[in-house]
Amino acid sequence: MVANLAPSVRATSDPTYQTALQQFDRAVAYLRDLPDGLIEFLKWPRRELSVNFPVRMDDSSVKIFSGYRVHHNTVLGPSKGGIRYSLHVSLDEVRALAMWMSWKCALVNLPYGGAKGGVIVDPKAMSVAELANLTRRFTSEIILFIGPNIDIPAPDMGTNAQTMAWMMDTYSMTVGYSVPAVVTGKPINIGGSLGREEATGRGVIVCMLEALRQQGLHRSPKDINVVIQGFGNVGSNAAQRAYDLGFNIIAVSDVTGGYFNPKGLNIPEMRAFVQRSAKRTLQGYVGDAERMSNAELLELPCDVLIPAAMEGQITASNAPRIQASLIVEGANGPITPDGDDVLNDRGITVVPDILANAGGVTVSYFEWVQGLQEYFWDEDEVYRRLERVLIKAYDNVVTTAEHHGVDLRTAAQITAINRVAQATLTRGFYP
Ligand code: GLU
Repeated sequence: MVANLAPSVRATSDPTYQTALQQFDRAVAYLRDLPDGLIEFLKWPRRELSVNFPVRMDDSSVKIFSGYRVHHNTVLGPSKGGIRYSLHVSLDEVRALAMWMSWKCALVNLPYGGAKGGVIVDPKAMSVAELANLTRRFTSEIILFIGPNIDIPAPDMGTNAQTMAWMMDTYSMTVGYSVPAVVTGKPINIGGSLGREEATGRGVIVCMLEALRQQGLHRSPKDINVVIQGFGNVGSNAAQRAYDLGFNIIAVSDVTGGYFNPKGLNIPEMRAFVQRSAKRTLQGYVGDAERMSNAELLELPCDVLIPAAMEGQITASNAPRIQASLIVEGANGPITPDGDDVLNDRGITVVPDILANAGGVTVSYFEWVQGLQEYFWDEDEVYRRLERVLIKAYDNVVTTAEHHGVDLRTAAQITAINRVAQATLTRGFYP
């Protein structure tokens, strides 16, 4: 069926893209009524832009950077997804992340397709001025690919509200008027939404509570031990929310390693430490915590494990040693398909990324809607609506899982892919 597709599109050695493609194959095996051509259409990215561009550095030298923006699917609406700054970025990684955005948006019923972008760069090695230059030039390179009704970027790993402000300004200066709705995750004072910054982490905890409820675990939160890998936007906001609800956060980690205290970590203190540190890491934190490696942290005995760092963290090699009974995926793609198999065999519940971390894009949607209407909601309204969206999606996934007798990831993918498939059939193929 893929005979005419460019070989470079369908052959990949990238583990993240392999994960996304394998998850897709597993899910569509349950959608037997869909025609083969439609399945191929859903599987591959719609359009891809690769750019190489110069950036003036503080020492007045010029460096060349590579970046990407991929629109995976646009059937349900304009495409949506973050921009990542990381040395791990590659076209294949962006393809995988764009595909997950398509399923994530469909799963929570947002009128969006899926996209993703990235630049190969270590943002922690750049000054603020260099990051502004890089962001503005990258925005200008992809400007024909983005727009409030075309494709709407947002923050992801290595980017934040300030990055979005620069993108919004560059786009607006180019078209000659302010277009806040071209990006989401903006600072509040230029049209951002209350609650957007906390939304992904908060959504992770909404899903954790739902999963605990469904498992019939009615222990008091203080007796439930939570381990969180990653202390960036997602991990630290999830940690804060769980801490505020009284859960015992026994370990967190970031690029500098793990921090462990079986009696519970002081999350507000750790967040304040990161805010004050030049590189925004836990390097040098000397609170009441024992040090350990990221690998050791994943294997700690606990009730809930929240991988909120990056892809491919749990595989067939460490999955046999995971001791959590529940995993809630804050990151995109932290578990490989062979890792999933081991966890499923061991009866460990996994709340998949496209559900667990969908809080971010959901409040991005709220931000976009508020901006277009020029009518802004209070924080309570944002959180109330966020919870409603996620719990509804969670219930749908559980119903699909029971119907097909599959795990929550496969159920989430079946639900999402089928929504995009049905919309495609309703629209029909052009011409
Ligand atoms: N980067 C986030 C994600 O992976 C948010 C995307 C968005 O808000 O558009 O879901």
